[in-house]
Amino acid sequence: MTTKVSQETLDALTDVEMPRLAPEPAFPDALETGGDRIPVLGCGCVVIGSGAAGLRAAVELKRRGVNVVIISQSAWGGTSACSGSDKQTLHTANTADQGDDYKAMGRALRAGGAMDEDTAYIEAVGSGRAMASLQYLGLPLPQNELGGTLRYQTDHDEVGRATSCGPRTSRLMVKVLAQEAIRLGVPIFNQTTGLRILTDGTGKERRVTGLLAIRPKDRSETNRFGLAAFQCGALVLAAGGPGELYRDSVFPNGCFGSLGMALEAGIEATNITEAQFGISTRREGFPWNLSGTYVQVIPHIYSVDAAGTERHFLADYYRTTQELASNVFRKGYQWPFHAGRMLDFKSSLVDLAIHRETEAGRRVFMDFNRNPLPVPGDRPFSLDRLDEDASLYLRNAGADQVLPIDRLRHMNPLAIELYRRYKVDIATDPLEFSVNNQHMNGGVKVDIWGQSNLAGVYAVGEAAGTHGVTRPGGSALNAGQVFGTRVAEHIAASGKAREVAQDDISASLAAAVSAIRNLVQKDSPHSVHSLRQDIQTRMSDRAGIICKPSEVKVARDEARALNAAIRKRGIATGRPSEVARVVQWQQMALVSEAVLSALDHFIDQGGGSRGARAICDPNGEALPMSKNGPLSAYRFRTEKTAHKAEQIIVRMVGERLEISTRQNRPFDGAARSFFERDWPNWLNGAIYTERAQGPDR
Ligand SMILES: Cc1cc2nc3c(=O)[nH]c(=O)nc-3n(C[C@H](O)[C@H](O)[C@H](O)COP(=O)(O)OP(=O)(O)OC[C@H]3O[C@@H](n4cnc5c(N)ncnc54)[C@H](O)[C@@H]3O)c2cc1C
Repeated sequence: MTTKVSQETLDALTDVEMPRLAPEPAFPDALETGGDRIPVLGCGCVVIGSGAAGLRAAVELKRRGVNVVIISQSAWGGTSACSGSDKQTLHTANTADQGDDYKAMGRALRAGGAMDEDTAYIEAVGSGRAMASLQYLGLPLPQNELGGTLRYQTDHDEVGRATSCGPRTSRLMVKVLAQEAIRLGVPIFNQTTGLRILTDGTGKERRVTGLLAIRPKDRSETNRFGLAAFQCGALVLAAGGPGELYRDSVFPNGCFGSLGMALEAGIEATNITEAQFGISTRREGFPWNLSGTYVQVIPHIYSVDAAGTERHFLADYYRTTQELASNVFRKGYQWPFHAGRMLDFKSSLVDLAIHRETEAGRRVFMDFNRNPLPVPGDRPFSLDRLDEDASLYLRNAGADQVLPIDRLRHMNPLAIELYRRYKVDIATDPLEFSVNNQHMNGGVKVDIWGQSNLAGVYAVGEAAGTHGVTRPGGSALNAGQVFGTRVAEHIAASGKAREVAQDDISASLAAAVSAIRNLVQKDSPHSVHSLRQDIQTRMSDRAGIICKPSEVKVARDEARALNAAIRKRGIATGRPSEVARVVQWQQMALVSEAVLSALDHFIDQGGGSRGARAICDPNGEALPMSKNGPLSAYRFRTEKTAHKAEQIIVRMVGERLEISTRQNRPFDGAARSFFERDWPNWLNGAIYTERAQGPDR
């Protein structure tokens, strides 16, 4: 990209306007329960969430004749609509030159372990279709004059399978998918938050019959909290990730996801120990990832203490200016913290150094008007003295300008524009940032069609636990599109959501409503504010990038005690309009206990450092070094190879969380399809049922 790109083009890719929603249909029925009259709407399928994944599922469902509605806490809220980075990435099979190898792509997607092998292949082979259909809907992915999509290399990606529309790829995805949903007439109930899944039956016969939601705008004398019920035969959880779990976070505000709701309904979760953390500006200001060109232009990174004194702290870690600058550059495509990269003076030493500065109460900044200062005793920074990967990239990009800001202006002016929209001018002022939580790789355990263990409930996007320990940048958005399509295929093939569901939901609705009423207690010592403080502090301080086994155990016990206390005393609120948040914080308390229990279980099994977390241990095998010597406090356990082949499952039984492990589902890479043999399975729908009947549904 050059600076010749017009302001109009830059504006179109940064200020993405969303379509106007159609008026909502009325709720035709109502049920009386406990003195309140709850409006009821019957449909075939409810999709919870209007992010990129939920909208994809809804559009594909509607096109297959399913009677589908979307409910969303905030139609243009959530990560897809509100998050991004310098070039927000979509990861699909490479179409730039000689094509791709889907099996190799599948292997790359699951390279970090703890990922089902068939899922990895599904995401690889489905990626071309996901991308092409987004392009068909108008997603402006860049291509060359011959139609090849422009590509680059991103995190955990050796091939270069990344592409991007700019900082706001996922918002643009939401836009084109929402336009299509509106065009197809999918009803979207905005400001409608799902609270409890309604079910019928027991044991293997148990299945979804509906959803209890809350719509503060519908509060009335006869409906004090503004509750509403949806009757449905299929439910798609597309509510995103539990962004509110951590204090130090780059999620947009108000992301709770649906994991707590799922656990309460007896739905199994997998891999919830796995997450991503990396450098970004925080949600207290404008939450945005500082990956790609933000760091590839190699700004000066420094901290400031309470007295205002600047510290060139990275010089305490790296041995030469070249090593320091090259590792700052690498944060561009090695963005997530990875314990193994703290070793041998690699790029996650940058994350550790920043983490230690902020932990010591110092503020950390990136200054685009200064090149990195030299490591004392070494030569000054020079673009001619960088490691080969960094210098080659900058040479190819023509980024030979003297200052980082000019290199950024040259390589990616959108990255500067973006912050300007939020009144931060990185061309003039240093940018404060830190290491923050960005993504949950785990979530609801699903089979190859996105089905959970509760019949009729599916999960897609960040709500689903389809990623392993490491996920290539852009694969989250791809997974949501691929599985959004697959759940629609499966639900449509089952035929169960074509018509309005007819089940009697009165008993399960009454139980769900009474659970909400019991939760809201005037004299409880717990409030939304206190829970937020308690949960987020514990998670960021005890389950961030640096973990100590004994602290994780204490944190788990505290989280467990908090849930017991909430069960006993409820949560206080003076405002009926806050009831949705009360329920979401109660569910976040449960999610926090679930994550800490799974993490504690993993550590007890000898689990070591992988992906997002370093499990520190004085007897650990790995010792990160700094220029000034060993960083003994951060000696850590390495991962056991056997753990790559399995996943940790969490399930709620009564008030207890049960933890177990299971092996990754395999994929037979040698199997070949044969047209005449396999065609009938497609024609008679056997592809939707045969494997799903297996033990791991
Ligand atoms: C800063 C940042 C940068 C990222 N960059 C990338 C990237 O470059 N590439 C990539 O692949 N991924 C990236 N990710 C991750 C990716 O953006 C998310 O995984 C993805 O957008 C999730 O989409 P989703 O549709 O599952 O959920 P979301 O987009 O979060 O949507 C969730 C929806 O559910 C609604 N909702 C939530 N709870 C409820 C409820 N109880 N009831 C009703 N509605 C509810 C919300 O209002 C929202 O509409 C990034 C994430 C962040 C935070």
